[in-house]
Amino acid sequence: MCICINCKFVDRCITYHNVEENHGADHISDLPDMEAINPFIHVTVIEEENGLHSTEWDVRSCDSYQEELGKWSSIRPGMELPA
Ligand code: SF4
Repeated sequence: MCICINCKFVDRCITYHNVEENHGADHISDLPDMEAINPFIHVTVIEEENGLHSTEWDVRSCDSYQEELGKWSSIRPGMELPA
C-alpha cells in the first residue's frame, strides 16, 4: 500500500501526481506544487489473465512524509482507496 494516502501532502505532491499518472487514476490535485524529498517508489509488474502486463507504483518511504491518517479519504470521501 502506498504511504501517500496517509500523508499530509498528498494533495500537493508532484511525486504522488506522477504515481496517479502511472496508475491511470484521476488526479487528486491538478496543480501539485510540492516536490517530495527522497521518495522510494516500489514498482511491481503484474501479469494479467489476458497475458498483458500492468504496473503497480507504491511509495514505500519518503523523507517528506508527514502522517495525517485518512488524508486521501478526507479529500475523496466515500471513494475506494487506490490500490
Ligand atoms: S509520502 Fe512523499 S511522495 Fe507521498 S504524498 Fe507525501 S510527500 Fe508526496
